[in-house]
Amino acid sequence: MTIDERAARIALDEEKARLLHQLEELGATPDGDLKTDLDLGEGFADAAAITAERSEILGLVERMVEELGTVDAALDRLGNGTYGVCASCGEEIPAERLEFRPNAIRCVSCKEQRS
Ligand SMILES: [Zn+2]
Repeated sequence: MTIDERAARIALDEEKARLLHQLEELGATPDGDLKTDLDLGEGFADAAAITAERSEILGLVERMVEELGTVDAALDRLGNGTYGVCASCGEEIPAERLEFRPNAIRCVSCKEQRS
């Protein structure tokens, strides 16, 4: 089974659009900065709740920015012909894995070692 780079690019573009949209909805920039301070009904919500909400959103944003980074990295790799090669060990990433997760830039065993 060979890697369908055209399908991969479409999947990556879609994933990128989805992530950017979600960041936008959370009021964050693609770099993960919150554009405005959250307005969660100042006056009656207590500060602790706002802080908790804010850190929850920041956590979400952080994960999305990280995900976005891997999507961009995968798109770069499509551009320079290294797509589908593990960024750590240089082995080919199985096409089945890329189909399931087009932004994978490491094979399963390297990914497991990192986490
Ligand atoms: Zn690897």
